[in-house]
Amino acid sequence: MATKKESADGANLPLLPVAEGEEPWSTEEIAEVRAVLAEDAAQLRAAALEAQAELASLMTEGVDGAGKDPADVGSSNFERDQELSLAANTREVADQTELALQRFDAGNYGICESCGKPIGKARLLAFPRATLCLACKQREERR
Ligand SMILES: [Zn+2]
Repeated sequence: MATKKESADGANLPLLPVAEGEEPWSTEEIAEVRAVLAEDAAQLRAAALEAQAELASLMTEGVDGAGKDPADVGSSNFERDQELSLAANTREVADQTELALQRFDAGNYGICESCGKPIGKARLLAFPRATLCLACKQREERR
């Protein structure tokens, strides 16, 4: 496939690859996906920090749990586990979004990290933080 670069008038946004059969990215779509990524990254990072703080306070509370009703201890352990996995999950998504943003700014956004093929416009518009094409993502999930 030809990767002919058009002389975009004044636009300094990178050209993003598309999957076979897809329309080329429009300047608006590129700007939009970049804006969504930047916004998500900021929000997710804030959420991750918040979850971390929440977790820290739950951990502190846990220390003076002596003398409590065992049922209360059980439920606060459950709550702590929930917070723990939420915090880990949020941090992971935040990291992934920041990675996608870095790739965008480095000019290799939209290329599958695993097979090097275009991730595809439709997939990126639906999941701007995707760094794997659908085929690679599905293969990874099956492992
Ligand atoms: Zn791939």
